[in-house]
Amino acid sequence: MTGGDRVSLHASLGERLVFEKGSPGRRGSDIPAADFPRRELSELIDADLVRASIDDMPSLAESEVVRHFTRLSDWNYHVDLGLYPLGSCTMKYNPKVNEKIARLDGFARLHPYLPDDLVQGALEVQKRLEECLAEITGMDRVTLQPAAGAHGELTGLMMVRAYHESRGRGRRSILVPDSAHGTNPASARIAGYEAVHVPSNANGTLDLDALDRLANRDVAGIMITNPNTLGIFEGEIARIAERMHAIGALVYMDGANMNAMMGVARPGDFGVDVLHLNLHKTFSTPHGGGGPGAGPVAVRDNLAPFLPSPVIERGRDGRCRLEGERPQSIGRVKAFHGQFGMHCRALAYILACGPDGLREASETAVLNAAYVRSKLEGAYHLAYAAPTLHEAVFSDRFQAAHGVHVLDIAKRLIDYGFHPPTIAFPLVVRGAIMIEPTETESREELDAFIDAMLKIARECETDPERVRSAPHATRIGRVDEAAAARKPVLRWRPPSTAD
Ligand SMILES: *Cc1c(COP(=O)(O)O)cnc(C)c1O
Repeated sequence: MTGGDRVSLHASLGERLVFEKGSPGRRGSDIPAADFPRRELSELIDADLVRASIDDMPSLAESEVVRHFTRLSDWNYHVDLGLYPLGSCTMKYNPKVNEKIARLDGFARLHPYLPDDLVQGALEVQKRLEECLAEITGMDRVTLQPAAGAHGELTGLMMVRAYHESRGRGRRSILVPDSAHGTNPASARIAGYEAVHVPSNANGTLDLDALDRLANRDVAGIMITNPNTLGIFEGEIARIAERMHAIGALVYMDGANMNAMMGVARPGDFGVDVLHLNLHKTFSTPHGGGGPGAGPVAVRDNLAPFLPSPVIERGRDGRCRLEGERPQSIGRVKAFHGQFGMHCRALAYILACGPDGLREASETAVLNAAYVRSKLEGAYHLAYAAPTLHEAVFSDRFQAAHGVHVLDIAKRLIDYGFHPPTIAFPLVVRGAIMIEPTETESREELDAFIDAMLKIARECETDPERVRSAPHATRIGRVDEAAAARKPVLRWRPPSTAD
């Protein structure tokens, strides 16, 4: 398939479509008459929550509803359609068997208030997942409560805070390298700390001299992404950890990039005290689209007393129980037990891969990124020469000379049938193009992407206007992204009331 063919189907279907659908009286189902007295309903639900009539809802036949949603699902580029090279996001393919497992009745239909005795299977899934994640990261304990990476960061920093306070001395700041993910300084602030930036050196890694200048006894810890957002492994991480520990500070590792080193290196072995993982990145659970994520946090024993409550403890008889009596805990950070469906998927993925499979996944992810990097080097400016792991960061420097910028390149890629890579991030690279192919792509898919990127690089020289005015093959051209962010239309309204 060529790039053009990949999208033309969508474009031609798009022309036939309007969003407002239906015709009065058309029906997809017959709702049986209520078999309870009407007045009971009004006693149960406040009057202002009850609709007087549903006549303003669209009326559609079943076939129209199915086609409508099937088309909508197709308008959105997704990882089941092709390569999704968003750097720092690890958009890998999610094996469908994990979906089946999460949907087993015994998992999907459990009530969260059931007593421990009746949910031993579910607790066993969570406990085993905790044990697997502790093993993979080289840490002692894990909480599965946080619902996203950023939520894990906040949870981890709340534990850091509780740790310092328990030792009688709250501290003021968290050191955050300038190559950090944007959520890091935000989490530090929300946890009540000042985020102090540490500059990178010319190799794209943390500057140790700058670290030494900033390290003092007001520092609660450092938040370091490893491999960092340039895809570069922080080779001095053990020394960084030593220096932090020497001033009584802790090391938080943003482990969202764990896909680069599963089975190869363990953060617990190089001095990390606390880290989060993104199950929706590394451990192959669905990612994006508004669905739930999961950001488990792993800690060393020094932070274990502060873990969110309840924790899952395994008794001598092998049975698991939820333990809530923990005086030093930071408390609950999520309703019920976290995103249980994600835990089922992640454990299924880990068990199916096994230790060798996880290692192979990381090695292949790194190999694929190195392949893309070597093929695009020369056509695109490589931001840093240092070797990279699971992603490669280019810039638009060569193309900017022809008046074409990173956003144009991203939009033009859509014409070739690919989701664009992450752009304009990390901030330390001007005009950044951050490509993370992941391990789940075939050689053919990688080659098709490389081919598209090389064609675009040539177009920037021969026909820059074509790139600047892209996309050409989509139903909608360039949208006003600022307006979409500031005045989002998040809800359908009947045409009569839409403003
Ligand atoms: C994705 C990511 C995060 C945030 O994870 P969310 O689940 O989106 O909150 C944090 N740090 C890094 C390095 C990431 O790549």
